[in-house]
Amino acid sequence: MKDELLLKRVNGNGNGKAKLNGNGHSHDFTNGHDVIGENHIATSIETPMRGDAFDISDEQKMEVITEKFRDIMVTMGLDLTDDSLQGTPRRVAKMFVQEIFHGLNPANKPVASVFENKFKYNEMLVEKNINLRSTCEHHFLPIYGKAHVAYFANGQVIGLSKINRIVDYFARRPQVQERLTVQIADELKKVLKTEDVAVVIDAEHMCVASRGIKDGCSSTVTAEYCGKFKDRSVREEFLKYLDL
Ligand SMILES: [Zn+2]
Repeated sequence: MKDELLLKRVNGNGNGKAKLNGNGHSHDFTNGHDVIGENHIATSIETPMRGDAFDISDEQKMEVITEKFRDIMVTMGLDLTDDSLQGTPRRVAKMFVQEIFHGLNPANKPVASVFENKFKYNEMLVEKNINLRSTCEHHFLPIYGKAHVAYFANGQVIGLSKINRIVDYFARRPQVQERLTVQIADELKKVLKTEDVAVVIDAEHMCVASRGIKDGCSSTVTAEYCGKFKDRSVREEFLKYLDL
């Protein structure tokens, strides 16, 4: 009975309009929003979050997502009494909340311990080929790639693995590559107390590779150069290390 009602609602919504969120705003997919999504344009540097994002617990979120994802699968005609599919809604809910979107919750932000720059190392420090696994917020498909980070220490240095953790935290959100690049740079500037930070991301988008244009060869490069890295020679030194 529940499934019948759901199908009716889906079928009755054939005017191209759909509600995206629970706060009463309806979005017309025939207008700008679909164009923005298809072109992977980020509208804000902050991840757009609702004010009530953390009013319910992770466990409650997983229960709700399990139910909703079950509805999606049933709507597509899948038989969830089949052994192979039975556990999928709960598995997807756990994956969303505990793994791939874990970075939506500021409580999960890595605590970045900084150390005094005892060696007085004043040259550029580069950490390259940091593994990056994220999710495109327009299609909910994976983004795979590498992040490359550089900075000049301003009296403080950071444990190298902490840079990986910061990259991973911001990657574990529904993302747009440009926003991800800026969010990582902003966090490093805050932690290292310097403007002299650069972040380059080179990534493949499954929404480009496996749907739409179906281009499995292209990758997208985004860069954020701050402070000293705005200087061309400094930027070139960094890019030379990357040898992209
Ligand atoms: Zn996409």
